[in-house]
Formats: sequence, C-alpha cells, structure tokens
Amino acid sequence: QIRVRFAPSPTGPFHIGGARSALFNWLLARKYPNGKFVLRIEDTDRVRSSKESEENIKESLKWLGLDWDEGVDVGGDYGPYHQMERLDIYKKYAQQLLDEGKAYYCYCTEEEIAAERKALMAENKMPIYQGHCRHLTAEQIEAYKAEGRKPTIRFRTPENKTVEFEDMVRGHMQFDSNGVGDFVIVKADGIPVYNFAVVIDDALMKISHVIRAEEHLSNTPRQVVLYDALGFNVPTFAHISLILGKDHSKMSKRHGATSVEQYKNLGYLPEAIVNFLALLGWAPQNEQEIFSIDELVKAFSMDHVAKNPAVFDIDKLNWLNAQYMKKLSTEKITMMAIPHLVAKGYLNGALSTAEMAQLVRFTEIIRDHLSYGAQFLEFADLYFNDDIVVKDDEAQKVLADETAPAVIKLFKEKLDSVEDFDAAHIQPIFKQVTKELKVGGKKVYMPLRITITGQMHGPDLAGIIEVLGRDRVFKRIDKVMP
Ligand code: GLU
Repeated sequence: QIRVRFAPSPTGPFHIGGARSALFNWLLARKYPNGKFVLRIEDTDRVRSSKESEENIKESLKWLGLDWDEGVDVGGDYGPYHQMERLDIYKKYAQQLLDEGKAYYCYCTEEEIAAERKALMAENKMPIYQGHCRHLTAEQIEAYKAEGRKPTIRFRTPENKTVEFEDMVRGHMQFDSNGVGDFVIVKADGIPVYNFAVVIDDALMKISHVIRAEEHLSNTPRQVVLYDALGFNVPTFAHISLILGKDHSKMSKRHGATSVEQYKNLGYLPEAIVNFLALLGWAPQNEQEIFSIDELVKAFSMDHVAKNPAVFDIDKLNWLNAQYMKKLSTEKITMMAIPHLVAKGYLNGALSTAEMAQLVRFTEIIRDHLSYGAQFLEFADLYFNDDIVVKDDEAQKVLADETAPAVIKLFKEKLDSVEDFDAAHIQPIFKQVTKELKVGGKKVYMPLRITITGQMHGPDLAGIIEVLGRDRVFKRIDKVMP
C-alpha cells in the first residue's frame, strides 16, 4: 500500500517549494487505488512554530485541492498528528535506545560542543562529536548531575559502516557512518530533534514513500541508522531537486512571490499553480503542458522526476494561468479584480448594478491581456483615470503630425452622431475618417488611441470608447488636444 505524508514545520508562510513536495506526495497517493496521503505537523520548534502558520498551510493545501486522508483535523489510525502531542511516544523509543546502549546521555554544554566544533574546523576536520560522553563512569555522571547539567540524549552511531539507501530520484546513495558521528536525538528540554521524531513517526504511521526536498538528503543517513537501531523498515526515499529562480540562484523573496498565499492573493488560479508545480521537476512523456489535476494523477510518475534543479519560470506560470483564466466568466474575472481596485483606491464601496455591468464590459475588453487577476491594475487607469498624460516621445510625435487635428475633429463629429453607442457602431468610424481625409489607418488610430488612453498600444479602442461613454471620451481628447 502506498502511504505518503507531507510533514511541514509550521514556521512561516507556506512556500511554493513545500507545496510542490505536498503535490508530488499527493499525486502518488491518488495514483494508487488505496493510496493514502497523511498530513503531519512537525511543530517541535517551539520558538518558530505558530498556529497561524499551520492554518495557512492547511488553507493553502485545501485551496490547491490537495486533500488529506489522515492527519491533523481529520484524524486517523496512527495519530496524534501533531508532533507535540506525541512526546510520550518519542520518550519511549529514546528509553529503548538508552536501555539497549544504542544511545547515551550527553552532559556536554552547548558552549563545549561549539568550542569542539570550532577547533575541529580549524584543523580542517569534520565537525562531528568526538564522543566525550560516550563512556562516562558512574562517578563522572554524578559529578555532572551535581553541577546541575541537564543532559541531551545522543545516538551512538555505529562506526566504520556504510549507510546505504535507495532514492527514487537519485538512485543508490552511500554514506560513511564515521561522517555522521554521534548526534543528539533528544534535547535537554526533552523535545526530540527532527531526525529522531521523523523516523518514529514515519515508521509508526507506516509511511511507504518519503518524498521531500533535496535539502533533507544530508539528514537521511542519520535517519537510516535510526531506522536500523529501532528495528523499523526503511521507507523508500525520493529527494526532489531544489527550485531555483530564473537566474539559477536559490529561489528567494527577491525573485517575487514565494508563498502560495501570495499567488492566491495576486489572482492566480489553483489549477494553474498545481499544473505549474507538477512541471517543476517532473516531465511528462509527451509535449503536453496543460494538465487538469485528474490528468496529472494519471500521467505523473516518480520515474520521470529529474535530478537537476527545477527553474521557477514566472513567465511560464503566467502563460499557464492565462490559459486557465480563459475558462472563467468575465464576471468572475471582474470579481477577482475588485479587491485589488479597492486596495489601490480605484473603487470604494459597493458598485451600483449599472457600474458593475460597465466594469464587466471593460473586463471583457481587456481580459485577453490578463495573466492573473491583479494584473487588472495595469489597466485600471485606462478605465478610471480621465486625466490623460502623454509621456512617451513617440506618442508626442504622433500628436504633432499635421494630420492629427483634422482626424480628431472629424472623429469627434462622427462620434457625436452615433446613435447606438457601442463598439460595433463605433468601429466603422475609423474607416470613414480614413476615407474622407485620405490618410492611412495608422494616422487615424494612433492619435485617437493616444488622446483617449495616453498609450501607443492597448486593448480594442472601439470597445474602450464604448465603456468610457461619449462624455468621458471627449473630455480625454480635449485635455490632450484642446
Ligand atoms: N518538517 C520537515 C520540513 O518541513 C519535514 C521534512 C521531511 O519531509 O522529512 O522540512
């Protein structure tokens, strides 16, 4: 049975990389008839964990459509699913290792450990614990206790062994146990470290495949030696590549939005994000780029997950999102834009039915230019701001052309007498002006577009004239060419 899990630490915004790990696990679970996807919250970092972050992760997963079969909120046979509610379980296994001599109390202070590491590094040696507390006598232990030192529990890593495991992405992996050294499994405050808790949880929750970010690859040898010591079966690992920015440096804030919530707020669609994330590291067998989530479940395979880093290409995401936006009604796209228009002060309060209808009509004209909801803002001035300023030199030149005043004048006359003021009836006027004045189409369109919108290019001009209405169009033209 396929049992996979997503095990986030709720220590901040839900990063796009975390969403990709969750998605790959989810896809694997959904691919198999009885597959299960578990959500476990790894909240042992008491300082950095927060409820808000946990809520944010759960909301984001739901928004993306990644439902979990077991875990926090929904329960299951292997709970509890918050690590902080599992402390007794970790304690029991730590005691087992202590009893078997596979772990020991370590009384070294943090300062002593830091000093040891520093000295080792200075000699170009690996900064691994040198085993000071490995064989303490009863007297030494008493003495440390008398000093009031609180011990950690350290795992006694077997020496001179090869630690091996299979990785679905990276193939056969081998590490020398001497490079692992004895490591802390339970801190002095009784809280287990990640490497210890994760092994116990994955084993007890019967996780078959651990798919996670490459940054955990170096933790895996520690986990494998713990599986062995505890007598647990080792799951199959898959470490998926880093996500890099377009400049091939590690993805960070300076590459733009990095959290799922930010994309949601910018008006990206969950289907598009899921589609995009699936292609970050996984490649389909054919040229297909647009996948519904059901199609992904069918096509996805860990065999085609690449080892090399995935590059986060925002242009590709925008393109994908635009494809999914095409399926939305214009009303829906308008609704997506409204909060942004309010936030930027273009709108305040509720719109009347007529205002709403007009805004929807405007959206219809610009919608093909939008890759995501918030991009509406790039067109907001076009609709809301009659105070046209022509900044572009090229545009100034167009207006300075000797034919421009006549074009504008004739156009205004004709526009004034249009009875049905809609794009279909406005459109022919451009041609009529061209004919009557015997000037090229460009010499008609350009000065009109510039006086009405301030821009050299943009969405359908007849449509814009229609939504602005006669008065506003005249107002704009008169301001630019009095
Ligand atoms: N809590 C760990 C993290 O968020 C989980 C890593 C793992 O999947 O084992 O990075």
